[in-house]
Amino acid sequence: MPDRHDAIIIGAGVIGSAIAFELAKLGWRTLNIDKGPDAGSGSTSASSAIIRTYYSVEASCALAYEGWHYWRDWAAHVALPEGVPLIRYNETGCLVIKGPANKNLVHVKQMMDHIGCPYEDVPTERIADYLPGVDVQAYYPPKRPEDDGFCEPTGGQIAGAVFFPQGGFVNDPKLAAENLKQAAEAHGAIFLFRAAVAEVRQADGRVAGVTLTDGRQIDAPVVINAGGPWSSRLNAMAGVVEGMNISTRANRQEVAYIPGPRNFDFGAKGYVYSDGDTETYARPEAPGVMCIGSGDPQCDPREWVDDPDSLLQEFTDQWTVNVMRVAQRFPELPIPGQAKGVVAMYDVSDDWLPIYDTSDLPGFYMACGTSGNQFKNAPVVGKIMAHIVTRCQAGHDHDADPLTFHLERIDRVIDLGTYSRKRVVNPNSSFSVIG
Ligand SMILES: Cc1cc2nc3c(=O)[nH]c(=O)nc-3n(C[C@H](O)[C@H](O)[C@H](O)COP(=O)(O)OP(=O)(O)OC[C@H]3O[C@@H](n4cnc5c(N)ncnc54)[C@H](O)[C@@H]3O)c2cc1C
Repeated sequence: MPDRHDAIIIGAGVIGSAIAFELAKLGWRTLNIDKGPDAGSGSTSASSAIIRTYYSVEASCALAYEGWHYWRDWAAHVALPEGVPLIRYNETGCLVIKGPANKNLVHVKQMMDHIGCPYEDVPTERIADYLPGVDVQAYYPPKRPEDDGFCEPTGGQIAGAVFFPQGGFVNDPKLAAENLKQAAEAHGAIFLFRAAVAEVRQADGRVAGVTLTDGRQIDAPVVINAGGPWSSRLNAMAGVVEGMNISTRANRQEVAYIPGPRNFDFGAKGYVYSDGDTETYARPEAPGVMCIGSGDPQCDPREWVDDPDSLLQEFTDQWTVNVMRVAQRFPELPIPGQAKGVVAMYDVSDDWLPIYDTSDLPGFYMACGTSGNQFKNAPVVGKIMAHIVTRCQAGHDHDADPLTFHLERIDRVIDLGTYSRKRVVNPNSSFSVIG
């Protein structure tokens, strides 16, 4: 391995690998360093890998719609030799139940109109066409098991749903990171695994490289933080936290894998499902298996993780509460006695929008704060970070004059100031995994 690189990328998850791919295509000699055994073994491996286009902020909707094109055309995007195993993108479509948590999707539909992303309104009486046996009673607001009225209807019916035909899920998120790594390697990128960064070194007021826990020093004029739930530690190592108005924190999440409703095989015939009334989400996993996660209702305590290296792996009542809340909508859903699924971490920012930015240390960049909702955007994030890095290294001041980015598949321009570390907390955010 050469000891000099154009850029070091800390992390080889779906984000770090996508950045390597895009910089390597531009001729940069990149090195990804990851303390894990292989690509995507961090939080990416636990991702529900849902591809959807609705967010609460228009730039993010546009980013996600652009990203959808890459998942649809994955083989062409990564251009790997025939025979290399690739991810499968399952286009189930996304059924989103209207409710207070998504403001009945009024603003979302306006944003979809702006970006040209198709959707269909589904009246309440037609939701059963998608979800046989569905319970259309309103349950909002979600409650805790210790509260009176937990899982009891609160009166009236939900206000319908919206179906987004362009959406689905990726069967193997870890393989997505691996595919991006392989694609980057085909352009000369290098990956170093089982190697932990202990220090971000500086010289003459600029980043100079990193030092590993085994003492090895690796030099580069550019270092990019793609450290997922470990991002705040890396920002602290680089001494750039004071210059950030938005911080990031690891957040513990439990995702359930259960057999699904008795009256139809959600795992084989279901949709990506998100509910603005019960504040839950679900998607098919495989025939006979349903994947369930939380929509982060305000009543639930936020489980911040101070040390991402010692995450509590056991399931707690978070698992049961999520499954019971989904069972409100699916009366035929049995609640298994034994918890199965994954325990993992989001890297949550103050407003649950990511940070894609430079920093106050010249040469140090960050792609972090992905808040449980940026797997789907990774192919585009690779391009965005390559754009920010190449322009800022050429002297552009992204803080004073925020760059824009042309989303070529949907032919729209977004303001990258939306993802600045110096932004004010975005009041339009859902402050949840919806972003
Ligand atoms: C349970 C769950 C469900 C999700 N569901 C969805 C979804 O449905 N749709 C969606 O779009 N998004 C979803 N997400 C979010 C998405 O998966 C993440 O945003 C994305 O995977 C983050 O990728 P990453 O590369 O930034 O982080 P990671 O995959 O965590 O990679 C960071 C890497 O950095 C390495 N690292 C950290 N510190 C160091 C160090 N000091 N030295 C060396 N290496 C280091 C780690 O080993 C790790 O491999 C979900 C996330 C989770 C956890």
